[in-house]
Amino acid sequence: MTSVVLENVRKSFGSLDVMKGVDLTVDAGEFCVFVGPSGCGKSTLLRIISGLETSSSGKVFIGGKDVTDAEPSKRGIAMVFQSYALYPHLTVGENIGFGLSLAKRPKAEIAEKVKQTADILQLSHLLDRKPKALSGGQRQRVAIGRAIIRNPKVFLFDEPLSNLDASLRSQMRIELTELHAKLGATMIYVTHDQVEAMTMADKIVVLDGGRIEQIGTPMTLYNHPATPFVAGFIGSPK
Ligand code: ADP
Ligand code: MG
Repeated sequence: MTSVVLENVRKSFGSLDVMKGVDLTVDAGEFCVFVGPSGCGKSTLLRIISGLETSSSGKVFIGGKDVTDAEPSKRGIAMVFQSYALYPHLTVGENIGFGLSLAKRPKAEIAEKVKQTADILQLSHLLDRKPKALSGGQRQRVAIGRAIIRNPKVFLFDEPLSNLDASLRSQMRIELTELHAKLGATMIYVTHDQVEAMTMADKIVVLDGGRIEQIGTPMTLYNHPATPFVAGFIGSPK
């Protein structure tokens, strides 16, 4: 299992300091949730971990290895976004297996892995459907399937449920928590939804204005918020 460590990560876009020195350890196998208001830098931090964005300074370690300058594809991570673009002309099975087809894996191996992945996500009965014949929750599961099939050590989720309606969201919260238990992978999950953070996280990282306000378990943040901002955000009793 694989830890993720950030050392004094800073990021500026022109004169805008978006990340003002972030130090963080996400332990191997942990479900770590980044919360904070819109614009506080959650996505930027995730993109720096994935390598889609380079930090202005500081270091990123994945599994103890310095990956600060490594390509995204060399980091052993998979990312799931809120707007998941499935290929409309491919079936569910072909969408899930797409990355392996691209990597020219043998057909039998792809078929076996697609089957395993579909089992985990309860998509087995939908493998021959096209995305347009799926519900929002099923589409999001296909997007997660595309990530799982590559067997990443670390999953990065950027508000993956925010396009779903409330009842689907609560169902998917449970499914993602179960998926984490099943795979045992390290997961970093970005949301601006306090309920998601409180119910899913082993550890919550509260961000505001490019800094970490507090890190702790849901109960610690709830019972002992370090600042009024954290108290307000987590909804602690006054
Ligand atoms: P969050 O995900 O918490 O809503 P973001 O990480 O997307 O926040 O953005 C943090 C800040 O950085 C915002 O002020 C945003 O406008 C700015 N920002 C993000 N990406 C860029 C970019 N590529 N160029 C300029 N500013 C950016
Ligand atoms: Mg964002």
